Amino acid sequence: TSAAGPDQDQDQDRGLAGTRVLVTGAAGFVGAHLSQRLLLEGAEVLGLDSFNSYYDPSLKRARVAALLDHPLCRVVETDLAEPGALAKAWSAFRPDHVVHLAAQAGVRYSLRDPRAYERANLAGFLEVLEAARAHPVSQLIYASSSSVYGASTRVPFREDDPVDRPSSLYAATKRANELMAHTYAHLFNLPLTGLRFFTVYGPWGRPDMAYWGFTEALHAGREIQVFNHGQVWRDYTYVDEIVEAIARLLRCPPQRADEPGRVVPEASHRLFNIGNDTPVAVGEMIDILERETGLQALRRNVPMQPGDVVRTWADVSALRAAVGFAPQVSLATGLQRFVQWYREYHRLSP
Ligand code: NAD
Repeated sequence: TSAAGPDQDQDQDRGLAGTRVLVTGAAGFVGAHLSQRLLLEGAEVLGLDSFNSYYDPSLKRARVAALLDHPLCRVVETDLAEPGALAKAWSAFRPDHVVHLAAQAGVRYSLRDPRAYERANLAGFLEVLEAARAHPVSQLIYASSSSVYGASTRVPFREDDPVDRPSSLYAATKRANELMAHTYAHLFNLPLTGLRFFTVYGPWGRPDMAYWGFTEALHAGREIQVFNHGQVWRDYTYVDEIVEAIARLLRCPPQRADEPGRVVPEASHRLFNIGNDTPVAVGEMIDILERETGLQALRRNVPMQPGDVVRTWADVSALRAAVGFAPQVSLATGLQRFVQWYREYHRLSP
């Protein structure tokens, strides 16, 4: 773990043991990792997930099976866009904190099935805010995305950059979440923290993401489509960095005003980038996967995909200042762990 300042050390002493944390999207990639970590710290976890079939639900079931070994964990199948469903589970569990990760993810799929994004990311997010308003918690952390920066060429991306030109409907719904959160923080004095995740990867990851697809193609001897002739850079973030940052943030909620409606919105709604601060070209990512698998990629150059952006790059200084965040895991190390996990999961020989 990275070094934290003296104040953070004090905050961390409080720990999460004995707290109740509601995690939406707990069967998802990030949600399952986070839940595992919270349980290790002694928190009680209620996970909610619809187990939708955007990608193989058996992977979601397998992630959850590992969680359910723990006596302090329950996972309930719920669609949180269903009006009132989340509020019911929330009021019964009485969480101290909520981490909202459930969403329809994926940039490209938002061109094919826009209504899935409207439902999960807009209607679903409103349910989350309404439940928080009815049953206050000491902090609600929610996942936004680096995609809100659109095709911005001002790098690295900072939280106060203009973000009014999303390149996809997915990005637009994530930006809408930030704006909705801002109004609820302001109107109802809710302590909210939005996190702009930058391309998260790691064991138990998502089959719709490039690193997984490339690893699959390598093993199957299929060709890999390299978009924009490899001129695509991503700030890849190892999943443990995200989990560590969320655990730290949970220990230091945003400042709340004494009276609802009188809060300075910036004080109760925080927004942070979470990235690795190191953009890597897609070709280099494929080189690493070749090394780790010992297989040679069949690369085919194809044009840029609509909705995709050329480069992402997180400035993480705000998160560093707030909780001492300092990414530890290089892409080479993280992909090594992913490939090892991938082979075990698919029972491939080493
Ligand atoms: P994921 O798809 O693995 O997890 C999301 C989970 O939410 C899934 O298990 C899904 O079944 C569930 N879900 C979807 N709609 C639901 C609904 N209406 N009710 C209940 N559950 C529902 O994705 P992930 O990679 O773990 O992403 C977690 C969050 O981080 C998402 O909000 C995503 O948009 C955001 N994010 C992820 C990345 C990344 O690179 N992984 C990058 C930026 C932002």
